[in-house]
Amino acid sequence: MTDHKKIEEAVRLFLEGIGEDPEREGLIDTPGRIARMCEELYGGMDADVSEHLSRTFSVDSSEMVIERDITFYSTCEHHILPFFGKAHIAYVPDGKVVGLSKLARTVEVFARRLQLQEQLTGQIADALMEFMQPKGALVMIEAEHMCMTMRGIKKPGSRTVTIARRGVFESDPELEERFFRMMGGR
Ligand code: ZN
Repeated sequence: MTDHKKIEEAVRLFLEGIGEDPEREGLIDTPGRIARMCEELYGGMDADVSEHLSRTFSVDSSEMVIERDITFYSTCEHHILPFFGKAHIAYVPDGKVVGLSKLARTVEVFARRLQLQEQLTGQIADALMEFMQPKGALVMIEAEHMCMTMRGIKKPGSRTVTIARRGVFESDPELEERFFRMMGGR
């Protein structure tokens, strides 16, 4: 649960810290605005992925399923600046699949927290393995980090790519090659 009072106090202090006047007209409502925004940006802290991934359908096929280009927005825990991009999810079912929208919901639950891209990638893969029990899962994330484009090394457009492999994707490199072929050669 977000504590609005604490966030508002902190934002006022922060504004003073950067030399601003929190009482001036343009800023007077900013602490409250940020506190309300935090409900959405960090709403994943209170959300539970099991409710999305536990509703499965039976299938006979064990062909790889890919859901690609899931847009997400998250926040880097080192700088509290946004990072955003696309998540691609592949899994090899073991008799069970989930509705495709549930994969996007799962990404959202983990993205709406303070995150590291590597950790976000791994948490999605672990949740798929835990709640859907597929033969294997692969999660690939491509993202642009505002902490790299607005500040520091300032490389606009540069993307960070992370991959997490679980189950058969760890033991069978051919599966990963098929994933990349199906993704259209990246
Ligand atoms: Zn950062």
